[in-house]
Amino acid sequence: MQPSSSSTASVAIVGGGLAGLSAACYAARSGARVQLLESSSELGGRARTRRDGAYTFNMGPHALYRRSIGQRVLRELGVRTNGVTPDLSEPNACCGGRLHRLPVGPVSMVTTTLLNAGDKLACGQFLAGLPKLDTTAWQTRTLDEFLDAHAPRPGVRAVLNAYVRLATYTHASDRVSAGFALDQLKLALDGGVEYLHGGWSSLIESLSECAAQEGVDIRRDARVRALVPAGPDRSQVELLLRNGERIEADVAILATSPAEAMRLLPSEAGELLRQTPGLETPVRAACLEIGLRELPRSSATFALGIDRPTYASLHSQASGLAPQGGANFQLARYLKPGESMDRSEVQLELENLLELLQPGWRPLREVERLLVDVPVSHLLPLAEAGGLSGRPAVDELAKACPRVLLAGDWVGSEGWLADGSLASGQRAGELAAERTRESHTRGRQLAHG
Ligand SMILES: Cc1cc2nc3c(=O)[nH]c(=O)nc-3n(C[C@H](O)[C@H](O)[C@H](O)COP(=O)(O)OP(=O)(O)OC[C@H]3O[C@@H](n4cnc5c(N)ncnc54)[C@H](O)[C@@H]3O)c2cc1C
Repeated sequence: MQPSSSSTASVAIVGGGLAGLSAACYAARSGARVQLLESSSELGGRARTRRDGAYTFNMGPHALYRRSIGQRVLRELGVRTNGVTPDLSEPNACCGGRLHRLPVGPVSMVTTTLLNAGDKLACGQFLAGLPKLDTTAWQTRTLDEFLDAHAPRPGVRAVLNAYVRLATYTHASDRVSAGFALDQLKLALDGGVEYLHGGWSSLIESLSECAAQEGVDIRRDARVRALVPAGPDRSQVELLLRNGERIEADVAILATSPAEAMRLLPSEAGELLRQTPGLETPVRAACLEIGLRELPRSSATFALGIDRPTYASLHSQASGLAPQGGANFQLARYLKPGESMDRSEVQLELENLLELLQPGWRPLREVERLLVDVPVSHLLPLAEAGGLSGRPAVDELAKACPRVLLAGDWVGSEGWLADGSLASGQRAGELAAERTRESHTRGRQLAHG
């Protein structure tokens, strides 16, 4: 352990994922002196990219929504994303152990063997009307309630449930807010998504360059172990690091998981957070990442499970993710709240899906990794909590810990997944800079009597 030392920063940020990095850029840009502390040796959190031989993998399937609030934040920061729209010209639906054409447009709707004539008409009408659907009244109702009212035919319901899983990663139609789910489905169908060239680390690199240019002091291998109020009238906050160091700040931003935030905070503030509805049911998935020397069927790039909550997509449609001629496949099994699967069960289910899509792939496998249970988002937007508006605010701890702000994909009422991290990061960074200015003004006034 290093000897204990202390320093000051007007804004200290805990966590170097998308939320912490965007918060750092905004706080520094608004004039604050910023220090960002990341416990790992690498920045990025769940948006990190990993190399395995000649293959490069994001942590499970990652796609950036194109017309989202997250993109607006990135543009404002001058961070350009560089990716490709996945080719959905021959998308597959997997149902009853067979592949069918996924009905994504008029032609596939007419030709698919997935639905009968009545279902095709009902599904087509629903999708055509979706952009104009007012979701306000559905924020506090569940997806099941919405489907009972608007898509009672079992075939149509199964397809819409699969689309919601794809657009949101949630697999909880009896609990998730219908308004949230439908808004996210609209966003996915309207603007589409992109797979990033070189993986999501390209985004992390651009954001950390932006932070460095704004003068942020970025520290890796810096684990914070507690936060305590400090200063003469508890108007500051002190961060205690695992190496014994202490950092005093006017404002701290916690851009970690909620569990870590609760552990770091004084008990009263931690207790406030613990009561947030939805935190007990994070959105989780099992993921299988596979690198193939070549593809048995080059046109079969995508499959969505209809009667099973599964997904498979060729992510090396973006460059830099597989060697020349090779393929990087990402497969996922959406998990229900509380559901757990053992390794062999999930591996078999996802490998069987890939066998349907790419028969004979096994001898071509070069690398593979199975993630049995990863948190995709820390909070399920429950109908009973009003969807995204039920998430804690950036300044949720104003009463218990006024010097501590929150950011992450479980914070704030705007944006889902990475978009939520970026949107709450922006808000937390701007608010932290404002609070810092206020506290300096107050300090000067006190000094002048
Ligand atoms: C399988 C999977 C698929 C996904 N797919 C998509 C997708 O398609 N589209 C999309 O938009 N999003 C997707 N996401 C979600 C997206 O990756 C996350 O929402 C986003 O990366 C979260 O960023 P964050 O900064 O809020 O949190 P994190 O990335 O979790 O960052 C938190 C950081 O805090 C650090 N930290 C924790 N404790 C401490 C401490 N005590 N001291 C210092 N540092 C600490 C951690 O090391 C970490 O780096 C997916 C996620 C997963 C897991």
